[in-house]
Amino acid sequence: MSRPEVRFFNTLGRRLERFEPLAPPRVGLYTCGPTVYNHVHIGNLRTFLFEDLLCRSLRFLGYDPFQVMNLTDVDDRTIAGALAAGRSLDDFTAPFIASFHDDLRVLGVRPADVYPRATRHVTEMVAIIERLVERGFAYESDGSIWFRIAADPDYGRLSGIDLSGARQGARVASDDYEKEDAKDFVLWKGAKPGEPAWDSPWGPGRPGWHIECSAMSAKYLGETFDIHCGGVDNVFPHHENEIAQSESASGRPFVRYWLHSEHLLVDGEKMSKRLGNQYTLRDLLERGLSPRAIRYALVSVHYRQKLNFTFDGLRGSASALKRVDEMLFRLRHAAAGAREAGGGGAVLEGRAAAFLAEFGRALADDLNVSAALAALFELVRDVNVAIERGEVGEADRDTVERALHRADSVLGVLFWDGEAAAGGAAAGPTDDSIRERIEARLEARRRRDFQAADRIRDELAAEGVVLEDTPQGTRFKRRSG
Ligand code: AMP
Ligand code: ZN
Repeated sequence: MSRPEVRFFNTLGRRLERFEPLAPPRVGLYTCGPTVYNHVHIGNLRTFLFEDLLCRSLRFLGYDPFQVMNLTDVDDRTIAGALAAGRSLDDFTAPFIASFHDDLRVLGVRPADVYPRATRHVTEMVAIIERLVERGFAYESDGSIWFRIAADPDYGRLSGIDLSGARQGARVASDDYEKEDAKDFVLWKGAKPGEPAWDSPWGPGRPGWHIECSAMSAKYLGETFDIHCGGVDNVFPHHENEIAQSESASGRPFVRYWLHSEHLLVDGEKMSKRLGNQYTLRDLLERGLSPRAIRYALVSVHYRQKLNFTFDGLRGSASALKRVDEMLFRLRHAAAGAREAGGGGAVLEGRAAAFLAEFGRALADDLNVSAALAALFELVRDVNVAIERGEVGEADRDTVERALHRADSVLGVLFWDGEAAAGGAAAGPTDDSIRERIEARLEARRRRDFQAADRIRDELAAEGVVLEDTPQGTRFKRRSG
């Protein structure tokens, strides 16, 4: 099929660029996933919904995206959380991984193609670090391995950071830090007592956060791929460091297009524990808010604009959706009336086609969702006018519904039946979430913590999933009805 010209704002170079993937129609994308030390908050969800909208838009525009979303299940925060809870890392992160998948399902996010976990890819990380040491980009000191930023003449290209004040050889050990702290950063941390550790040529230890994404993206997408996404806070140091590691190790360009979403604010303020405004999806659902209105609120603002989340705004989202629902209701009624009166003509075909063309043009323009929604509400208005005038024929109902279904393959919010929006999955937890929990249960049994193992089995049973232990491993069945 012919594809319209698509443009994206590339953070690398900070300008709109024509989108030309390496091997169309395939588009390889890497989207930084959650750090599973806590339940994700609605800010995180804004970014994940932007990435969902991006993948759905690419599909609408004739591409075939392959999305990788990692799970950061080992880093400073997960290790601190596991230590404080007195649990193994896997045990500590399992419920957060499960609730993350559940949140995505409730909000109608189409699952990524793979969700690789950092703890399952340490071998690949060690291999890249070895290459960086061999090529002179990394060195050992204090029992850890560090990336030497002075060895990389391109360092700072993505974030535009000023390195003039950076002292040669100064180091930063924490996974996340501010721009003022641009320093040699850690690739491999030597083991500390009580912390999880893996073997490496440099002795037991664990990976730094940034190397995780370099290793997992190369494994699933190759050394060079099309799109890398995340929230704006990922630009520095995370993505800057990913570029440095990946390009220094492979000698090739890493990513062609970098897309970053702006932050979500709550009532105009940055979310923080102190203000008590760090809402999770569960917090909002407990207040009786509908996932459909939440999804609409999160996808209806352009990804490069700050999104101010307010309860008033949510009411606005609900009433926008109601306009669509009411139009569809009246259209069905009018079509039935026309049938009784002998069918009538088809007056809306051209109008629906024009809408879809405009909707697609808006998305192709750096995901201009405001313009796409404006086109949608103009269509709603015009259909209402046609109904009012008694012009609508029987075929018009199909025409308009078909166009809205096509638009909804991107928005995922117009024809809302919860789970169906996430790609037709049956009600209940996702396969990924079930598998995570089966793994956590096996892990608990290996520790002989049968109480924990039984608790996981019972929780799944309560969600309609029955486990069956067989010689080939644990299988699961969804109870129907
Ligand atoms: P983290 O779990 O902290 O690694 O974050 C997961 C994703 O959420 C990353 O892509 C972050 O950039 C993004 N993120 C974090 N806070 C916000 C926020 N307030 N608004 C939008 N995205 C955010
Ligand atoms: Zn990442």
